[in-house]
Amino acid sequence: MVRETALYDQLGVAPTASEAELKKAYRKLALQLHPDKNPDAGDKFKEVSHAYEVLSDPEKRQLYDQFGEEGLSGGGMGGGMGGMDPQDLFSQLFGGGGGFFGGGGGRGGRPQGPRKGKDLVHRIKVSLEDLYKGKTSKLALQKHVLCGKCKGKGGKEGAVKTCQSCRGQGVKVVLRQLGPMVQQIQQACTDCNGEGEIINAKDRCKECNGKKIVNERKVLEVHIDRGMKEGQTITFAGEADQAPGTEPGDVVIVIEEKPHDIFKRKGDDLFAEVEIDLLTALAGGQFSLRHLDDRAILCTIHPGEVIKPGSVKVIPGQGMPSYRHHELGDLVVQINVNFPDSLDPAALAPLESILPPRPELPTYPKEVHVDEVDMVDASERRTKSGMGAGGFSDDAMDTDEEGGAGPQVQCQNQ
Ligand SMILES: [Zn+2]
Ligand SMILES: [Zn+2]
Repeated sequence: MVRETALYDQLGVAPTASEAELKKAYRKLALQLHPDKNPDAGDKFKEVSHAYEVLSDPEKRQLYDQFGEEGLSGGGMGGGMGGMDPQDLFSQLFGGGGGFFGGGGGRGGRPQGPRKGKDLVHRIKVSLEDLYKGKTSKLALQKHVLCGKCKGKGGKEGAVKTCQSCRGQGVKVVLRQLGPMVQQIQQACTDCNGEGEIINAKDRCKECNGKKIVNERKVLEVHIDRGMKEGQTITFAGEADQAPGTEPGDVVIVIEEKPHDIFKRKGDDLFAEVEIDLLTALAGGQFSLRHLDDRAILCTIHPGEVIKPGSVKVIPGQGMPSYRHHELGDLVVQINVNFPDSLDPAALAPLESILPPRPELPTYPKEVHVDEVDMVDASERRTKSGMGAGGFSDDAMDTDEEGGAGPQVQCQNQ
């Protein structure tokens, strides 16, 4: 049972279709819908090409049958291959190079020499700890390699014959009368299914069944060096899928930095917020912080130094190592002060003897009436119609400088 049939429907075949049936269906549709020939077909060419790209790959087809379109977009190694350019697929299937439909022109020929296969791009999420300490992780991928038994030929030496009908081109040129004009059209060779060569069933390589490639599991050792950054890449040259007559593309690993609960990174510097209590802020003490390796760091606030809420301090050399040279950046900490919710009014006298005296209230001219009013907590404010619960957040109130215990003064202009 397959889960979705959309891709099969696009090619007009049953989910039980054989590879040959798929190829035949695609060829027919692709020739009809190719933008060189049928500019009005819109995205249909892309759609059928995508359908064929998936269903012609046994691995992808299995994923699709099992999980539907969802299975193809999944994060697995095979899923990240990215769609193939429909034009590439078309050229690959029909062996085309340069303008495909005779007389079409315009489309430039490919550069000579072996074509390079697609790079395989894979993103890996790396924790800030691993970027700080460095790490080697193993990454397994499934890839196509040339069949070792037939050395990528598809059969025994001499078993692979160039198709006589198309002289190995995979395509044949036919002439077609279009009103007064004769048009030259290339068509896929039906004798060799557009492959340009023929292998007799009995001579086919048993290992790869004449497909020239087999699947192989390959384990790559990915060295995450200390100080690597988001978006940085590690390239394994020529490790992507192999295919006959092409130079394999690279496997490109892209580093993705996972967000960290405590530290934020900017270049080689780290940023963190720490919280200390009011006594430590006023009278000194220590705070500590777990770092990204197995250490904790301990910082001292010296008695007599007063830490204001939100103060920013720099701890040199406790940031990230730079890439390659491993020079350490800085750690920048914002110190938040945790105030007590209330104090015993009877025990406040020592504070008054230590802290600077309360500032004088402003004096007003005689004609100003000073109205003594009450304050309530912002959270207790009763909302009036259409108004929210006050504009200040608790944080804003904490850091507001309040003029001591004196009454709040408000002028009422009428
Ligand atoms: Zn083989
Ligand atoms: Zn042929």
